[in-house]
Amino acid sequence: MIAEEFLSIAGLALRHHRGADSVTVTAVEPSPHGPLVRWSAPLLAVERERRADGPTTFLGPVPGPVLLTLLARVLACRWRDGAPRCPPDWAERLARRHRDVFGQGCFECGPGWRWLWEGAAELLQERGVPAGFRTSQAKEKFGSIRWYYDCSDDYEYTQSLVDGVELLSAYICEECGRPGRIRQGGWLRCLCPEHAGNRRIAGGA
Ligand SMILES: [Zn+2]
Repeated sequence: MIAEEFLSIAGLALRHHRGADSVTVTAVEPSPHGPLVRWSAPLLAVERERRADGPTTFLGPVPGPVLLTLLARVLACRWRDGAPRCPPDWAERLARRHRDVFGQGCFECGPGWRWLWEGAAELLQERGVPAGFRTSQAKEKFGSIRWYYDCSDDYEYTQSLVDGVELLSAYICEECGRPGRIRQGGWLRCLCPEHAGNRRIAGGA
C-alpha cells in the first residue's frame, strides 16, 4: 500500500525529471519515524540547477532525491499509527507539535495534506530550524499548497523543502492524503478518484 502510494505520487511529481524512470522501491522498513520507503534512483540529478539569468538567478526544479526523501517521510508520518486518520483537530495538533515551524498554525487547507506539513516540519527540525524561520501563510491556492515563510539563513535547503511540499501537494488528495490530481469543477482542487466525483483532471492530462 505504502509502496504503491510512493510510486504513484513520485511517478507524477517527477515526470519531468530526467532519470525518473530509474526510481524503484527497494524495501519498506520500520523506522522511528514510521514505515519508511527505501528507494533507489541512480539516474536522478542530485544538485539543484542554479544559473545567472540576467539580473536574477534561475533556479531549476527541486532535485528528485529531495522530493523522494520528503515523500518517503510524508508517507511514514501517514502510516505511523496504522490506517491513516484525519481527526477534526488535526491543524491544532500539528501546530502544537511544531510551534518552531508553524507558530500558531492557521492552516487554510484540507486534512489530507497534514502529513505533508508534518514530514517537512520533522525534516526541518532534524536539520535545525533556521534562524528567524517563521511561517506567515500555509494555505491552498489553485489546487496546491502555498507555504510562505521568512528565514534569515540556510536558505537553499529550506527553499527546496518548501518547494518540494508545494510540488508534492499537487499529487496528494487534499481531503484524504491518497494519490490525487488537480481537477477542475468550480475551483481547482487536488483530489483522489474517490473524492473527485465527476470532476475532470485539469488540463485533461
Ligand atoms: Zn481523497
